[in-house]
Amino acid sequence: MQIEQAAYWKAFLALRVGWEQWALEQGLFDAYSFPEVEECLDEALQELGIAGRAALLDRRLQVAVVPFSDSTDPVWAYFPVHRRRRIARHVDLRPETRVLLVFYQPDMRSHSKEYMMNKLRHHLGHVFLYLRNSKSKEDCPAAEEEWKRCTFEWESSSD
Ligand SMILES: [Zn+2]
Repeated sequence: MQIEQAAYWKAFLALRVGWEQWALEQGLFDAYSFPEVEECLDEALQELGIAGRAALLDRRLQVAVVPFSDSTDPVWAYFPVHRRRRIARHVDLRPETRVLLVFYQPDMRSHSKEYMMNKLRHHLGHVFLYLRNSKSKEDCPAAEEEWKRCTFEWESSSD
């Protein structure tokens, strides 16, 4: 089974970032509903500065929710992602996708919101790092730093 949500999440993020007209023209919001995931992404977006928000619209980033559990964090950034990777059997990858942000729905429900948000910030840090430099390695401390660098607080304090 492959999950086809690429257009939905692209439209969702565009809507949140402020491209309402474009997002509504896509008309894809009725087919899916992921309240827990939307809540987490909304919270992350509120913490992000302009550069971080814009990075979420990068065409190389694809978001997906899968209905099964994995023995990883409840959210995971796969990069670079390609068709040979195991996760690609379950998600319909767009040709331009290089980073796949996957939410494991059952795992999200079994963890607290706070735990979920910490994992999301961490994996978004990896996403931003990779989008900025595709040669960047799987470096967890660097991902934590990158998240902070992309937040609103950091942006306003650096003026
Ligand atoms: Zn990490």
